[in-house]
Amino acid sequence: MHEMALAESVVGIVEDYARRECVKRVRTVRLEIGRLSNVELDAIRFCFDAVTRGGVADSAMLDIEEVPGTGWCMRCAVQVPLAAMLDVCPRCGGCEVTVTGGTEMRVKELEVE
Ligand SMILES: [Zn+2]
Repeated sequence: MHEMALAESVVGIVEDYARRECVKRVRTVRLEIGRLSNVELDAIRFCFDAVTRGGVADSAMLDIEEVPGTGWCMRCAVQVPLAAMLDVCPRCGGCEVTVTGGTEMRVKELEVE
């Protein structure tokens, strides 16, 4: 399950930050997750709760913002929205679409005490 590895890397970022800034408690972790990243939101929530237990982000809220997928169509020469990784261009139906966004996951913001 790659959500566990992702949750661990998120918690790693959060704990590094907490140590650096002398944060006692992390209340909210805001994540940006791309729609094309194949991350299961329920799974990441579950894993997050498990890996934060006993740490600085114990019982912190996980706030997930979904980032829509985007791609660049060679034929239309425009940016188009993508619902899936191998989607065709919604304008011309062509498959010369390069994914340009929505595949990443990142920590956007932390609310701390
Ligand atoms: Zn197109």
